[in-house]
Amino acid sequence: MGPGAEAGGWFNLKPVLAGLVLIVLCDGVFAEPDLRSRLDEARRVSYQEHWQQAQAMLDDLADRIDPSDVREYADFHLLEARHLVLAEREEEALQRAAELLELDLADDQRLRALQFSANIGVLLRQYERAFEYLGRALAIRVELEDPAPQIATLNMASYMFGRVGEYERGIRYGERAVALARDLAGPAEVCVALQRLAPVYKWAGQPERSEQAYRDGIDACQGVGNALFVGVLQHGLADLLRQRGRLEEAMDLAEQAIAGLERAIYPLGEYEARLVRAEILHDLGRPGAVEQADLLRLSEYFGEREVWDQAARLEMLLSRMADVDGDAARALEHLHRALQARESFLGRERAMRLAYLQVEFDARFQEQEIELLRESTRVAQLEAQTAVQQRRVRTLGMLLVGLTFLVLLAALLRVFRSRRRFRDLSRRDHLSGLANHGWFFERAQSLLDQFLAERPGGLLILVVADIDHFKKINDRFGHRAGDEVLGRTARRMRESFPEHALIGRIGGEEFAVLIRADRLDTVLGFIERFRRPDPDSIRADDPEVTLSFGLSCHQPGDDIEALRERADRALYAAKAAGRDCYRLDANCSALR
Ligand code: GH3
Ligand code: MG
Ligand code: MG
Repeated sequence: MGPGAEAGGWFNLKPVLAGLVLIVLCDGVFAEPDLRSRLDEARRVSYQEHWQQAQAMLDDLADRIDPSDVREYADFHLLEARHLVLAEREEEALQRAAELLELDLADDQRLRALQFSANIGVLLRQYERAFEYLGRALAIRVELEDPAPQIATLNMASYMFGRVGEYERGIRYGERAVALARDLAGPAEVCVALQRLAPVYKWAGQPERSEQAYRDGIDACQGVGNALFVGVLQHGLADLLRQRGRLEEAMDLAEQAIAGLERAIYPLGEYEARLVRAEILHDLGRPGAVEQADLLRLSEYFGEREVWDQAARLEMLLSRMADVDGDAARALEHLHRALQARESFLGRERAMRLAYLQVEFDARFQEQEIELLRESTRVAQLEAQTAVQQRRVRTLGMLLVGLTFLVLLAALLRVFRSRRRFRDLSRRDHLSGLANHGWFFERAQSLLDQFLAERPGGLLILVVADIDHFKKINDRFGHRAGDEVLGRTARRMRESFPEHALIGRIGGEEFAVLIRADRLDTVLGFIERFRRPDPDSIRADDPEVTLSFGLSCHQPGDDIEALRERADRALYAAKAAGRDCYRLDANCSALR
């Protein structure tokens, strides 16, 4: 509440204080100042203006209340008890009402005290007490001057019996409240009574009657300018229409309800309406129109105030939305929370129903026992159901974890495989399948390092080989045939040299082999094998191909570059000597 409102409160108090001064001044002039009318005024202020202001008026009257005048005494204390509730001192209020009920009260006051106590019972979730008071209130059936407390009692009975699943009774009381309000009170009371009755029809599975009651209620409440109840009725009807698939109408009502309840500053109603709106949007297939921040606010609000039924609905909706998004993990989490909220809600419903059953003593004692037995069976069933649901959630969770693991594993394997493929692509010459220039010399250097580290006493020999007059082959047979020759030559290389030799295509028609051997002759033997291929492996129309070879043998201080340079020079010598032969570097020659 802002400072302006508080200032307004004090401003309104001024005439009251002035009146008080007047009364004090006039005391003794009038024989009996009008206590009755001052109490009535305090009551009006309490209901229509500011309860704190009304309490200040009661404080001023306190000395003049005479306990022997039961009527005034009870009016005074009932009003004060109401203020205690508004100050959140419900237990004290209940105590005060209980003390009043000990007195010899008139019927209307007794009814008021009982109805009041039942209300607080619900507020404190002491349902047994609430039903007990309600039962006693309903037993008072007299023609009263003021029908208000009777209508209020019937309204409450309609709601409470509806809540515990006693729909027929709930509807009966609610319809009586509406009839009484129509006959004896006015549209303001009709508005309130219909607001209670309409949802009971809904719970009882009577949608047509419920819709009618909602619509009549909205009319009545609009007629008396009760914006708050208009909003509450509108979102109740929106929810009903949504359930019946009339989404457009429902949407319209929900929007109106939100706007109205926001204006009336009734957050619980407003948030319930927002939830209904979000559900409708989801049903319309437009969950995108729902603001995430909005839902978060709702979730906090319902959670903080333990509005479990709404919290469960919200979580269910969030779960469905996450499911649509394909986010299974989030869907599962919300489902879990929905179940928890639902469980809390069912707990409260059970408490209420059990309380109701426990106070239904009268003639139905035996029936009640049976009912209680049935009830505990139902409770057990509910618990079993919850356990099954929990187990389902757990299993689902485990499945989900397993699934996620498999998906991750598959993705990982795919990554590994494509990485290997790309690596291979970057290392292999695609035409011959041999190591390409870069990879050949990288590998060659590390083989050389290994050779040096081990010093086994053998030889490390580099062979470079170049196809003779390859240009002519291209010219005569075409580039394609040239490529085939390259492929065949590569294959022959692989077949002629042992597995452990490193073979690469290091230039256009130039190949290289790095090989460890005990003796130079062994390597020369491999070259000979290459030069004289198995005649069966050569097709008649394959162009005849020869190669020239240059060999260098490792000597201390050589790196791979030095080896290559000498092998190239030896190859050049082979070409110069007429091709189709091999030549050795000086180091190899010394080994012969
Ligand atoms: P030499 O005996 O002196 O080595 O004569 P050559 O014709 O083999 O040598 P040169 O270096 O003059 O020509 C090499 C030719 O190899 C030139 C080029 O067109 C050809 N060549 C290079 N790479 C490829 C290839 O990938 N495919 C084909 N079909 N031809 C290629
Ligand atoms: Mg060449
Ligand atoms: Mg050549």
